[in-house]
Amino acid sequence: MIDIIWDQAHNTPRNLAAAPANDCRRIGVAHDCRAVALQDCRALWPEARRATASVQALRPHALLRTLPLDDEYQVAFVPSCSQIAVLSRAACRLLERLPLGADSHVEELEAVEQLFALGLLSDGDRAIPAPAASEVLVAWLHLTNACNLRCGYCYIQKSGESMSIATAQDAVDAVVRAAIRHGYPAIALKYAGGEASLRMALVEQTHRYAQAQAARHGLALQAGLLSNGTALTPRRLARIAAMGLRLMISLDGLAADNDTSRLTIGGAGSSGSVTAGIERALAAGIVPDIAITVTSASVDGLPDLLVWLLDRDLPFSLSFYREPSCGGASRDLHADAQRMIAGMRRAYAVIARRPPRWSLTGALLDRADLAHAHRRTCAVGENYLVIDHHGQVAKCQMVLDQPVSHIRADDPLGMIRLDQAGVRNLAVEEKAGCRSCDWRYWCAGGCAVATHRATGSYDARSPNCAIYQSLCPDVIRLEGLRLLHWHQLATRA
Ligand code: SF4
Ligand code: SF4
Repeated sequence: MIDIIWDQAHNTPRNLAAAPANDCRRIGVAHDCRAVALQDCRALWPEARRATASVQALRPHALLRTLPLDDEYQVAFVPSCSQIAVLSRAACRLLERLPLGADSHVEELEAVEQLFALGLLSDGDRAIPAPAASEVLVAWLHLTNACNLRCGYCYIQKSGESMSIATAQDAVDAVVRAAIRHGYPAIALKYAGGEASLRMALVEQTHRYAQAQAARHGLALQAGLLSNGTALTPRRLARIAAMGLRLMISLDGLAADNDTSRLTIGGAGSSGSVTAGIERALAAGIVPDIAITVTSASVDGLPDLLVWLLDRDLPFSLSFYREPSCGGASRDLHADAQRMIAGMRRAYAVIARRPPRWSLTGALLDRADLAHAHRRTCAVGENYLVIDHHGQVAKCQMVLDQPVSHIRADDPLGMIRLDQAGVRNLAVEEKAGCRSCDWRYWCAGGCAVATHRATGSYDARSPNCAIYQSLCPDVIRLEGLRLLHWHQLATRA
């Protein structure tokens, strides 16, 4: 039986605004895996190649790799380029026999079409196409400086100050203007802080205004609220649900694994309040995305945390700790590469035992996203505006204190793109050591801020490069096991 199993929903970004609290470009999780029905996915390929490719000319892509899953199945992929797919032994044998002869039967022809559509075959061209730019303009609205936690790695200098509603509306206007001027059909707003849920009236007024302005200008609008989870009362959750906002909650571990670096303003641990907030969100009908920051204090507790999250069928993403620019963390939260790799593998083992319905290829390895090829690690410097409570516009929330424009400027996004003094989020081809890396369009070279702090330059590979290189195959194998698990359950039913 020629089985080709892949996640049909991979190409459907759910919501850019779904980025977790410390995140940047995370795209929502996709559900539903199945053996693919034949469909024309040649749109994945440039027009010129689509026109010339004929089934009889197709061979395994020169960069095709496989990893064994069990005696019958392998996971196949072309790094930086293809979909990740599970192939049965018969499908692998078919690959070895390519190109197809003229007497091939219809099942083989269809399977070759499918393998080509997934990017696993080519007509001789070894090139990896450069990914297209995003069509969504993302804006981080720093609604308040107030927060009830004092996390050891927070980059915000807290105060009680919040954005006024007039500034919030001007900020929305600036985002809409930028979208129109630069040709974006969609905007994604992240309501953030501080702790944005402490200012729900402001969130509501801003969101209502954003909905009206987006509708008026024919822009699609995605929006989410980033929260530490501790102040999510049933009343606030009802308001979040009524607005239809995505909810992202930060939680680094259970008990001390979280509390070492995430204390309340009074110095108590916060994990109990966060998990209670998550349970209340679920009771209110909201499924939050959980943002996990992996630090030296949380890495060993990841398996326990993942069991807790998987018990509740909660989507999550794992990001690596980055030192704040505003004077350093309260203790050293960096773990060395070997400890990180070992800790992440223990976490992946938990997932392998009980794979979720959704793909985790964009959520398991810091800023890497193995589901969506991309040239830049995040939207910074390209399609991203970070607006503080005074209306100043910065490139990244990590450097909120280094604005390069203002919402009342004629073209804040243009100024961000032209700025050469602040953080420079280079395309991966501009980074020494990255441009020839097999993983380049899935990794994109890591966070620019972290790279600059570690190396003093932006055109270098990430300080986490060894971790990315070690764990990319683990993530792919895990995705293969997940696809196989749900395919076998479906075919047994
Ligand atoms: S940081 Fe390392 S893994 Fe990532 S693209 Fe650069 S060389 Fe490749
Ligand atoms: S520069 Fe780094 S911290 Fe800033 S948005 Fe990009 S990945 Fe995140």
